[in-house]
Amino acid sequence: MTDRFGRTINYLRISVTDRCNLRCTYCMPPEGIPLRTHSEMLTYDEIAAFSTLAMTKGINKIRITGGEPLVRKGIENLIAMLAANDGVIDLSLTTNGQLLEEKAAQLKSAGLQRINISLDTLDPEQYRIITRGGTLSPVLAGIRAAQRVGLEPIKINCVINAAHREEQKEALRQFAHTEGLSLRFIHQMSLNKGTFSKVEGGSGGDCAQCNRLRLTADGKLKPCLFSDIEYDIRTMGYVEALESAVEHKPLKGARNPSGSFYGIGG
Ligand code: SAM
Repeated sequence: MTDRFGRTINYLRISVTDRCNLRCTYCMPPEGIPLRTHSEMLTYDEIAAFSTLAMTKGINKIRITGGEPLVRKGIENLIAMLAANDGVIDLSLTTNGQLLEEKAAQLKSAGLQRINISLDTLDPEQYRIITRGGTLSPVLAGIRAAQRVGLEPIKINCVINAAHREEQKEALRQFAHTEGLSLRFIHQMSLNKGTFSKVEGGSGGDCAQCNRLRLTADGKLKPCLFSDIEYDIRTMGYVEALESAVEHKPLKGARNPSGSFYGIGG
């Protein structure tokens, strides 16, 4: 699929839930978020059916995200459904790593190829503060489990802001180097205010090269993270929603007054 600015659209990010087991200060309100009803959420069959259609149109790269994707029951079943399609050449998942140790082997055998893990600091106390109560050690155990089962390359996503001290960044650089992980610093963004920047060491935030569409857990297809344009795949139908999203993909992001990272998945 090619959009009206000549960009090839081949990458679909799928949020499978907006629930999360952490409350990162830059992502979620401390009290959490209103929970969606079960019927609002796309089923795995719907997600797989939409993805199959998208793959016939040129999507060949899929990332599963959230909320926290590993809190959705049976996530490995969705991975297996997606991996069964020859059209997918890159199947990955973004996680906070809290549940990764117990899930890594199942995810790998279901067909997941690689994983991104969010980790902003190696200091347990700072981690607790940033995540509003999270524990660092399960993430480190999750990284080891991902290495063991071969969910590689492993990328570490670190959100930084003005309060991030250089020694914390340096500790992460050292850790990534020793462990053979690739590390990306992501400047803290605000969808509502429209502040965004390119990801250091990644491809995010570069509108001219953007090849992405995003599907939310309740079935809204979004052509741009920094825009509130969306197409409901249930009410419009899969083909029309997909075609509309590609056709109306903005040249550049601006702001997304109603959007949230936990709802769209980053
Ligand atoms: N729960 C998973 C995780 O923690 O990676 C997946 C969902 S999370 C919303 C996806 C990515 O968005 C993470 O790498 C997270 O750090 C990033 N993110 C969340 N809020 C952000 C913000 N305000 N600015 C930049 N990145 C953000």
